[in-house]
Amino acid sequence: MEASSIKHLLNGPEELINKTVFFRGWVRSVRKSKAFSFIVVNDGSSQGNMQIIADSSMEGYEQASTMLTGACVEVEGLLVSSEGKGQKVEIQAQKINIVCGVDEEYPLQKKATSMEFLREIAHLRSRTQTFGAVWRIRHHMAMATHKFFDERGFFHIHTPIITALDCEGAGEMFRVSTFDFNDIPKGENGETDFTQDYFGSDTTLTVSGQLQAESMAIGLGKVYTFGPTFRSENSHTTRHLAEFWMVEPEVAFYDLDDVANLAVDYVKYLISYVFEKCEDELNFLNFRPRIKGGKLGDAPNGKENHLDTLKGVLEAPVTKITYTEAIDILKNSGENFDFKPEWGIDVQTEHERYLAETHFNGPVIVTDYPKDIKAFYMKQNSDGKTVRAMDLLVPGIGEIIGGSQREDDLEKLNKVILEKGMNDEDLWWYKELRKWGSCPHSGFGLGFERAVQYITGMGNIRDVIPFPRTPKSAQF
Ligand code: ATP
Ligand code: MN
Repeated sequence: MEASSIKHLLNGPEELINKTVFFRGWVRSVRKSKAFSFIVVNDGSSQGNMQIIADSSMEGYEQASTMLTGACVEVEGLLVSSEGKGQKVEIQAQKINIVCGVDEEYPLQKKATSMEFLREIAHLRSRTQTFGAVWRIRHHMAMATHKFFDERGFFHIHTPIITALDCEGAGEMFRVSTFDFNDIPKGENGETDFTQDYFGSDTTLTVSGQLQAESMAIGLGKVYTFGPTFRSENSHTTRHLAEFWMVEPEVAFYDLDDVANLAVDYVKYLISYVFEKCEDELNFLNFRPRIKGGKLGDAPNGKENHLDTLKGVLEAPVTKITYTEAIDILKNSGENFDFKPEWGIDVQTEHERYLAETHFNGPVIVTDYPKDIKAFYMKQNSDGKTVRAMDLLVPGIGEIIGGSQREDDLEKLNKVILEKGMNDEDLWWYKELRKWGSCPHSGFGLGFERAVQYITGMGNIRDVIPFPRTPKSAQF
């Protein structure tokens, strides 16, 4: 008999009611009484579980009614309308086959566990209700991403993971090499001789696909890349990973306003798509049981109803302010920040959160940052001090998107590369984009995990990627 998904069965499809159905999954709980047992099974297809009633006359009842949480089972039974509240249908078991049981050492018991503990058993945590919900939402956000850009005429491109460029002009990259660490070839000056390495140059894992995306946008028009990104920054925060996924659209003929509007439309699209596809998951995450004193269940903004907050975002226009205005707001806030706001400083997380949470109480776009704190490729304003950059800040997290209009003036670009002390030899091809058939263009990067955090309300970025990579941690 062909297996059905629990998601499908829970809808109570007419043609299957009062018929024998077959499904597989993992036991969530068993409640035994003399005459019959209630067994709850989930197969990952949805947040909803299937309730099974096994009569004591059923063959193999003894084994089935003593299964422990986590056992893998195959179930054959009648799909019937349920009188109990909470579910439309249930199963009257005819046969339960235990594919693989569990013993008392199985660490996922029915009682609530902390997120920290679950991170230590990352290989098992996908079996929990919380992580099932997060992974399904993550999936739908990825699908929504492709739909959103495809519907708007963007082409999905793949940019390299190994690169010889340092896109941000900053360090914090993972080196890629086939050298024997105990015998690294040295040149005459005693420095590592990368010409003998696999690629014949010093290569790293990419921190962004932007530069290559720019090259493809000038030709394809509208493109986006969605790939893994690596930063070896030693950040022990709830919003930084060493390996994360980034969605980077790049658009020919877009200026900063166009790309800021694109960013807002995209984030709103993600939110509505998740509301459409994952209502059960959102509800579960919002109202899941909370551990006293622990962090489990706390939405990152500390608000009780995260879902209303998200819905509010869909209706309201997103505020846009300049960096200069943002600094004024911070200065006049009367807040005692760890890092004193002054024109010229990089906006810190505490500032970002003050703006998004306290001051605007919603997403806010900050534009036109000082050029000294931003990357070399951002278009300079005529004031000589600021660049056409934009960040989208959200409550609870801070920055989830960083973008800009790109410098398309070769002379200005050359000057900045010199000023920032960058190695401009490697950038020869990037500069040629400005030499022939150049055009104004803009793009941004959305940190996919930060967006998943924002929508799920999960407090720690380690809990929205299946196998997080962070300093001193790459076990699973
Ligand atoms: P932050 O200042 O928050 O560390 P950033 O300004 O260094 O971020 P960008 O270079 O602008 O980040 O990267 C674009 C997006 O990628 C950011 O808006 C953020 O959503 C995401 N991002 C950056 N660094 C990380 C990281 N270490 N882990 C997860 N996401 C990240
Ligand atoms: Mn940024």
